[in-house]
Amino acid sequence: MTFRLHTPKRRTITTVVNHYTDHKSDLQLDFKNRCGYCNDIHTWRVFSFEIDHFIPRKKDKKPFLTIKTDKDYSNLVYACKSCNNAKSNKWPTNDENIPYTNDEGFIDPCDINYNRQFTRLNNGQIRPITNLGKWMYNNLKLYKPQHEIIWKIEELEDLIDECENVLKTIDNDILKDKVLGLYREYREYTKQLGGI
Ligand SMILES: [Zn+2]
Repeated sequence: MTFRLHTPKRRTITTVVNHYTDHKSDLQLDFKNRCGYCNDIHTWRVFSFEIDHFIPRKKDKKPFLTIKTDKDYSNLVYACKSCNNAKSNKWPTNDENIPYTNDEGFIDPCDINYNRQFTRLNNGQIRPITNLGKWMYNNLKLYKPQHEIIWKIEELEDLIDECENVLKTIDNDILKDKVLGLYREYREYTKQLGGI
């Protein structure tokens, strides 16, 4: 299965901001509310989504860094906490102009090439299909279980939408009330996940 349906695309944003976090809403729009690395949607965990610097920041104390990467929009990635933490300040090429070499390093998630490194199993698990993909899979910890769980919940939401439409055509109010009540309860619980 395709790893993801859409490749995120950054607009050219040159607005000067006080802090890189001021770009969060721009990134949410350009990344369609998904982590650039694992493609998890932020719906149920919006508070644990962060901003990653694709090329690490100067403050990450990498001696090879010469350019200012702190607030440059073209260097920012909307990322879940798990991917952001796992990536940390890793940059194995030790050259800011070379994101990867010898199957080690990172591809910018906005590069269509990123999609070609992974596939998705029917149960939502991510799998690498290239050597560079394997390196990123391990270094971004894309094997963590939340990626398949979130993928499954998203699939379940679509199914529930479909079922709700079918229920509208059924002439059995007791059944309707029962099932719709169940869906309401399910949504109340998943909604709460966003705040914890
Ligand atoms: Zn992620």
